[in-house]
Amino acid sequence: MKVSVDPDLCEANGVCVGLAPGVFSLDDDELLHIRQPDESATDLERVSKAVQLCPKQALRLDEE
Ligand code: SF4
Repeated sequence: MKVSVDPDLCEANGVCVGLAPGVFSLDDDELLHIRQPDESATDLERVSKAVQLCPKQALRLDEE
């Protein structure tokens, strides 16, 4: 699975960072960085939730 962000949609509100802090992080310029999730159920569950709950629908999860 590969998670990606559309930087034009992301408003850096940190919802995804709160849900999956090991995967998503915001830098000082409010740019979202993504560490690709490993295949653990925990990571995938958290990332799926973040994708669902992103208020801007800026995240997507694709099969690799
Ligand atoms: S939840 Fe969505 S809008 Fe908020 S920081 Fe994450 S990707 Fe950006």
